[in-house]
Amino acid sequence: MSERFEQGLSTLRKQMDARVVSYLSSCVHCGICAEACLFYTETRDPRYTPIYKVEPLRRLWSREYSFWGKLASSVGLGESLTEQDFADWEELVYDGCTMCSRCSMVCPVGIDIAYMIRKVKEGLAAAGYSPDDLKGAAKRAVEIGSPMGVTLATLQATIKVQEKECGIPIPLDREGADYLCLLSSGEITGFPEFIGSIARIFKAAGISWTISSEYFEATNTGVQLGNSAIAAELIGRVVNAAEKLKVKYVISPECGHAYTTIRWDAPNIIGRPLPFKVVHILELLDQLRRDGRLKTSGTTGERLTYHDPCNISRRGGVVREPRNLLNQVASDFVEMSDHGAMNWCCGGGGGVSTLERARDLRTKVFNVKKRQIDELNVETVVTACSNCRHTWEDGLEAYGMEEGVELVGLTELVARYLVENETPTAGQ
Ligand code: SF4
Ligand code: SF4
Repeated sequence: MSERFEQGLSTLRKQMDARVVSYLSSCVHCGICAEACLFYTETRDPRYTPIYKVEPLRRLWSREYSFWGKLASSVGLGESLTEQDFADWEELVYDGCTMCSRCSMVCPVGIDIAYMIRKVKEGLAAAGYSPDDLKGAAKRAVEIGSPMGVTLATLQATIKVQEKECGIPIPLDREGADYLCLLSSGEITGFPEFIGSIARIFKAAGISWTISSEYFEATNTGVQLGNSAIAAELIGRVVNAAEKLKVKYVISPECGHAYTTIRWDAPNIIGRPLPFKVVHILELLDQLRRDGRLKTSGTTGERLTYHDPCNISRRGGVVREPRNLLNQVASDFVEMSDHGAMNWCCGGGGGVSTLERARDLRTKVFNVKKRQIDELNVETVVTACSNCRHTWEDGLEAYGMEEGVELVGLTELVARYLVENETPTAGQ
């Protein structure tokens, strides 16, 4: 047995918590989860059945934790788990699962399969069976502070451009601000108008906010890779930045897994409560709308739909807020056939969009989104995750649809119809 396989096995054993053990002993092998997974529905390859993706964990459980498995193992008949299995499951787990949790919604016995896939990743990553693209992203996140290698100088240059475009100073390192806004590298490099949009909205609403120059990254590659130590390190940097600037709230921006990580998983990953409240940008915007502090004028008459980012809607619970905002600025908003908590993933979550080798598979599974928008005949798709937006761009291009469908971030859309104040308001 190689040293790295031993290391992977030992890490996998540590993942065997009460939830995992109860899930594995409850599965009735009905196969219902298969039809909920875009990797199965779009390929019809049985290897992409959700519960099959956690097979390494199940085999370990069967051998070492179940009564009959232990008995069988004691006479040399138990199920085996080999290093080759780790090698075989790497592609299934990293390329063939976005950890979108749609399968978890349909399981009749309530098994959270995505939770277990995250555990399998821990074991595979510890044994070295994780994709180089993700390892590289995690290395850049730790060493540079951004999985895409975005430096402070790049952020500052982006802020300067946005300040010029919106005519509003964008606060960096403002101690004592109420809100610290995180940004994803995908936003900074691909959709920097998000920064100008929040600057305009926050000025109009009188929100006191800032960005930290010490740590501004929202994404957490440790979670995508399945490396809790890296995940904890990156969360710790957010905590340090927030404590240093003495903020009360941290805003999670338009990035799916960033929200689930900092809002729901962070205390468990770092082993203590967060010293601030976390709010998603859409929750904050909708709150401002309800309070009468976010005023808009006019609506777009374009026929548009909303793509729910899985981690914001299904795992995050932010379903009503985007619809409240959309109904304020769009007169022809139509829903996809499956939406909200039962949306279909775009195919790029969980780190899959990082993997060059998964490009063909991503395109194949994007067919589910193509079908959904073909049914609606929309001109615009709105979303609230820069990673989804990049995946949509690639998917539309692959299917030759990029000319007919515009993609836009919801914050940016709201900002287009913003009623701006004439005079500066408190906190600016
Ligand atoms: S979490 Fe999503 S992508 Fe992964 S197995 Fe379940 S349905 Fe498929
Ligand atoms: S739906 Fe649930 S019980 Fe059925 S096979 Fe999938 S994980 Fe097992």
